[in-house]
Amino acid sequence: MGHAIFEQRSGILGVAVVTACGVIRPEQLAGLGELPKKVSVLGMKLTTRQTLIFLINEADLTVFQQEIQKIGLQIGVFGNIVRNVKGCAGSDQWCRRSFGDAFGLGVRIQEQFMNQPAPKDFKISTAGCPRGCTDPYCADFGVIAVGADRFDIYLGGRGGSKVPRHGQRILEQISGEQVMKVLDFVLQKYRQLGEENERLCRVIDRCGIDSFIPAPDVYIDEHSQPEELDDFSAFLAGQ
Ligand code: SF4
Repeated sequence: MGHAIFEQRSGILGVAVVTACGVIRPEQLAGLGELPKKVSVLGMKLTTRQTLIFLINEADLTVFQQEIQKIGLQIGVFGNIVRNVKGCAGSDQWCRRSFGDAFGLGVRIQEQFMNQPAPKDFKISTAGCPRGCTDPYCADFGVIAVGADRFDIYLGGRGGSKVPRHGQRILEQISGEQVMKVLDFVLQKYRQLGEENERLCRVIDRCGIDSFIPAPDVYIDEHSQPEELDDFSAFLAGQ
């Protein structure tokens, strides 16, 4: 694992910068605009994983890293780790088609899980509706909002491959808090069962999807359950 800093054939460095699921705040945008005055920015590209690749001279790397940190962005990560989250615009603010705040959940997941170790690169996508603009069906761990704070989970997808695969839906209509617990469980299982450089879909082929589906007590907090029961009790009490 390490930072996503690559020497290109030309000798120029390509440095990936991670955003909050593709969103750049106005002051960050202004800071990025100032960068060429401080370092040699020879080009910039948006990637499909919502990072920004900057081409810079190697001598400018330290200053570049400092300036990126100053505006609240960070250098990307690479290798056998959890990558930055590819999150769609799904939220009240960004996309009117969204059923729930998949964007906010994606940012939260990225903050908590990015850069954690895994047997192979581990890619997460979040989407605010089943259209899946961020390809959650082809992610190792795909999250799709289906209602207000209700998400379906897809596991074991694979994109960017000659043999792309859709993941399998393992859970439906769980809360964002529960998604965090399920992801933690899946990653722990993946580290236990996966061999070095074995992508999650291959581990699922070998060990079965059931190994990766947590028991309800792993992600359902017993103190958060009674709401429905209480409603039902109130209904009965009113009879
Ligand atoms: S997946 Fe749905 S909510 Fe997300 S950007 Fe696409 S249309 Fe909007």
